[in-house]
Amino acid sequence: MADTCTHLTEVEPVSPSAEGCEDCLRIGGQWVHLRMCQTCGHVGCCDNSPNRHATAHFHETSHPLIRSFEPGEDWWWCYVDELAFEVPGAAPSPSHP
Ligand SMILES: [Zn+2]
Ligand SMILES: [Zn+2]
Ligand SMILES: [Zn+2]
Repeated sequence: MADTCTHLTEVEPVSPSAEGCEDCLRIGGQWVHLRMCQTCGHVGCCDNSPNRHATAHFHETSHPLIRSFEPGEDWWWCYVDELAFEVPGAAPSPSHP
């Protein structure tokens, strides 16, 4: 496991694709917490949610980095490095209302 994430340099600022998990909204599912892909802006649900769409999105697309999409949470997660971290000076995380 790496100490630092090497994928951070590859991401551009993205806008969230939806106000909630876009896959749950499509199928009428429910989520617990939301995560946002930092490669394409896909909003998906966390691993405590029944459908785990954020992780499913990583498996489908190999987009490595997500951020929390919850108010007041600024952490990032890299699926490839299995590393949680915060980015000093990063713009505040957009979050759902
Ligand atoms: Zn990484
Ligand atoms: Zn979902
Ligand atoms: Zn993505």
